[in-house]
Amino acid sequence: MDESIQVAVPIPGEQYYSYSVPEHLADGVKVGKRVLVPFRNRRSIGFIVGTGDAPSGIKLRDIIDIIDEEPLFDQRRLEFLKWVSQYYICTLGIVLKAAHPGGLGVSLRRLIKITENGVRTLDESRLTAHEAHVLNTIYNSGEITSQKLLNLVENTSNELLNSFKRRGLIEISYEIDSDTKIKTEKIIVAGDGANLQSKLLERKYAKAEILEFVLTHRRVPLSYLKEIFGNVGAHLPWLEEKEFIKIEYQEISRDPFADIDLSDDKPHKLTLDQEIAFEKISVAVNEGEYAPFLLHGVTGSGKTEVYLRVIQEAIAKGKEALVLVPEISLTPQLVKRFRARFGNQVAVIHSALSDGERFDAWRMASRGEVKVVIGARSAIFAPLSNIGIIIVDEEHENSYKQEEAPAYNARDLSLVLGRMTNSAVILGSATPCVESYSNALKNRYTYLTLPLRVEDRSLPKIEVVDMKKEAGEIFSEMLKRSLISNFEDGKQTILFLNRRGYSGLLICHSCGEILKCPNCTVSLTYHVEDKSIKCHMCGLSERTIPNCQNCGEGVKGLGIGTQKVEEEVKRILPNSTVARMDRDTASGKNKLMRLYSRLERGEIDVLIGTQMVAKGHDLPGVTLVGVISADISLGIPDFRSGERTFQLVTQVAGRSGRGDHPGVVIVQSYNPDHPSIVYATTQDSKAFLEQELKLREQLKYPPSSRLVNIRFSGIIEQDTESVVRESGKLARAMISKLPVGAVEILGPSPCPIYKIRNRFRFQMLLKSSNSAMLHSISRQLLTAISKMSSNVRYSADVDPYYFS
Ligand code: ADP
Ligand code: ZN
Repeated sequence: MDESIQVAVPIPGEQYYSYSVPEHLADGVKVGKRVLVPFRNRRSIGFIVGTGDAPSGIKLRDIIDIIDEEPLFDQRRLEFLKWVSQYYICTLGIVLKAAHPGGLGVSLRRLIKITENGVRTLDESRLTAHEAHVLNTIYNSGEITSQKLLNLVENTSNELLNSFKRRGLIEISYEIDSDTKIKTEKIIVAGDGANLQSKLLERKYAKAEILEFVLTHRRVPLSYLKEIFGNVGAHLPWLEEKEFIKIEYQEISRDPFADIDLSDDKPHKLTLDQEIAFEKISVAVNEGEYAPFLLHGVTGSGKTEVYLRVIQEAIAKGKEALVLVPEISLTPQLVKRFRARFGNQVAVIHSALSDGERFDAWRMASRGEVKVVIGARSAIFAPLSNIGIIIVDEEHENSYKQEEAPAYNARDLSLVLGRMTNSAVILGSATPCVESYSNALKNRYTYLTLPLRVEDRSLPKIEVVDMKKEAGEIFSEMLKRSLISNFEDGKQTILFLNRRGYSGLLICHSCGEILKCPNCTVSLTYHVEDKSIKCHMCGLSERTIPNCQNCGEGVKGLGIGTQKVEEEVKRILPNSTVARMDRDTASGKNKLMRLYSRLERGEIDVLIGTQMVAKGHDLPGVTLVGVISADISLGIPDFRSGERTFQLVTQVAGRSGRGDHPGVVIVQSYNPDHPSIVYATTQDSKAFLEQELKLREQLKYPPSSRLVNIRFSGIIEQDTESVVRESGKLARAMISKLPVGAVEILGPSPCPIYKIRNRFRFQMLLKSSNSAMLHSISRQLLTAISKMSSNVRYSADVDPYYFS
């Protein structure tokens, strides 16, 4: 019987496919390595996930090559990744690909060089003719890339090279494919003829202004110039031609934290609450047992200090720490503190890393050369081998949930990983999510709290303005007055606008009621295209807009963009410097860092932003925070809208008054009595969580049930719709065989964002309190759907977070 291997290929379909191994590759086979295989009528890269005897009677195809010298994962990590694949109903191949992001080798060039031992072996002619030929080619080239060698010599394989390396005949080093990887940016510097008094500049105000800026700032990145002056494309060529400026190129620093100064950060003497939390966690770390904690501490209560101490303890025990943060570029200060405390024992994995840097960080982690790995959600897959503590900071953040397959939630996975590695797990937040709080109440997590800010700093004062009583403008009287006086006092203001709402939100301007679906109690949205209102959970669709369910008045749309807010601020404060921070203006890490540093230097008076400004950044100069419309997030068609609103208002408020001046927060809302807003203003998370839990119980939403969202998308609307309709029927037929109410189905219905990149999108939500049953139905359903049409994409989103 022949030996065969099981290969997971990163596509939907089977968990793995069996292949045979030709003799010349047999030595290199090991679980965890990538292989090149023939797949259908093309080639594909896959992962070896098992070895064993071939099923008899079936003729298997040979693998073509083995890519890696060393396995990328060991058996223990494979167990974890299998769990992810099972739970999130996604093939192992797709999970493995997601767990080994981007450039783990593929875009790295392997440089091959013969060793002295190789030369000797060549002379002693102890090799087969083919081997000698290949080695000779290497010898003659001095140094050659593996790619070139494979093209040059027939029948060469990566695995042959790997085996040369194992035998000490060659050395392999890595180089990044430089043509695509090194990013440069344009830097504007003063030219030899730079002269502000030049006659050439007469009446050329814009050009003179740009030149003056360049002269004062010396080296100005083009992107920065654009940020300040808008489109400068028309002026720069002219300025360059007249030798007022020169354009140079500079490599973009891939480490967004490179410029951060690492003044050392001394451990503080812990407060009593910190001490209690630290003691409990460190017992668990020392015993090496799985122990989950929910660390609920108000903003500025010293959670990070607790993390640092616990990690210190773990390192002293010879263990490693994994720290997850919502979005690495938004947490430069946290990273800075970790670096200051643990120096180069820290590896930061973030999206701005080049393939080579990521590869290095990865290898260092797997060899135990770093003790702390910090990263966003995908760092949950970092190859640490001796984890003792896992920390999930701001555990309530949505960004831990991946939207596309595998649609995993790194927060939830941290507990699975903690159990598998016998580690302590800390979920930390000022506003824990309802699920985590419920787990703490059920004693699944140990609940720890830090109820006070350190050093008796007070929490900011929060005022709520009832917009029903205002004139219908963007700013209420109170916010307008505070904005002006704060500016006159030379202080900074943040204006927060949650734009992740839909302009189709319908709200009663006289009583503030948001129009809700009678079936699902999520918000209804208005669609301009066919002038209808729709529910995106159950598919309800109506042509007539009903009057307010509460007071009978007519309802109106609500929609404000950051741009409109900016115009209004400029009208009220014509002399102020206003900046916007949202996905459109702050794409690119450097840009974001620059916005922050401009803010820190006091160059910005008013910052207008979306949720990005709510993240944990210390900005001591900010003394006023205005929430333009708390209703926008309340109106998101999602059962979590109340929770989101509470979290956002609380977190945004936490941005204010971090320095010595107490801060003021003004929240504008048509629903000042909504629990999310009331409890956020009193900063009473527990009360909020208790009432939200009751609500979820009544409506059977998580944590009182589990959800699986089946998503569909297709290019041809009618075909997609018919597959969706069929699937709906099929799903209902399936659940009709189950006990009544065991699994409930909402939809299928069009997604709120109906069309993305030319694909029409639908969703169907399955709901049940029995997780196993829900999973099994979802799996059966997907299998059935896979047989319907090859043109419609479908996927399961387990424990979904996004319904847009
Ligand atoms: P959180 O993570 O809860 O927002 P941090 O850990 O960032 O809070 O602490 C807020 C601020 O208080 C930081 O500047 C930190 O250096 C400081 N701090 C933390 N713990 C203490 C302590 N025990 N004594 C004095 N200052 C502290
Ligand atoms: Zn509905």
